[in-house]
Amino acid sequence: MNQIIAATNNAHKIEEFKELFIGSDFELSSAEVCGGMPRVVENGDSFAANARIKAIALRALAPKNAWIISDDSGLEVDALEGAPGIYSARYAGQSATDSKNVEKLLGELTEWTGKDRKARFRCVLCLLDARGNESYHEGISHGLIASVASGKEGFGYDPIFIPDGHRESFGELGQQIKSRYSHRALAVRAMLNFLAA
Ligand code: IMP
Repeated sequence: MNQIIAATNNAHKIEEFKELFIGSDFELSSAEVCGGMPRVVENGDSFAANARIKAIALRALAPKNAWIISDDSGLEVDALEGAPGIYSARYAGQSATDSKNVEKLLGELTEWTGKDRKARFRCVLCLLDARGNESYHEGISHGLIASVASGKEGFGYDPIFIPDGHRESFGELGQQIKSRYSHRALAVRAMLNFLAA
């Protein structure tokens, strides 16, 4: 069993990763085992660049034989030409709350209806193995932006994201469904397939 440490302070992401690594050759720990995730400036121009910044920052504090995984993710809305994208966490301002971000996004989309509210969640994982090899793995979950927020599960934009094939938001569908279809689930699966190949 390899130890893999998640380079994030986001408790929701840790919960999701823990579930997604069940049955794999990895035991997932949070950055707490390294004294916490150091503060980083996410000034990359892509999800991959920001994922790399987080992974490299934790590598310096982690045990040498541990693997590191980091995730940079966000929501891309077609009607907004891909916004908020890499700015998803701070769409409504530097220290915006999830509900402020959701409110701003719903406000931007009032003119758009039905299929014109197409969006996707994108997740890029940066994996650093114990020898320093670096690889990237992507997962995309397609769906529509709801007209109102609903459901209390998950985090971020989950209450307004309706994944294709469903009528409810991720916020209503809950973790079990999210673990099957989410961008993060697909990215972890791509990574595990890459390692098994
Ligand atoms: P990051 O932590 O810098 O990658 O920022 C990700 C931001 O994108 C979060 O703060 C959320 O606003 C949004 N996001 C990413 N993944 C999810 C998800 O699974 N559900 C809902 N929102 C997400």
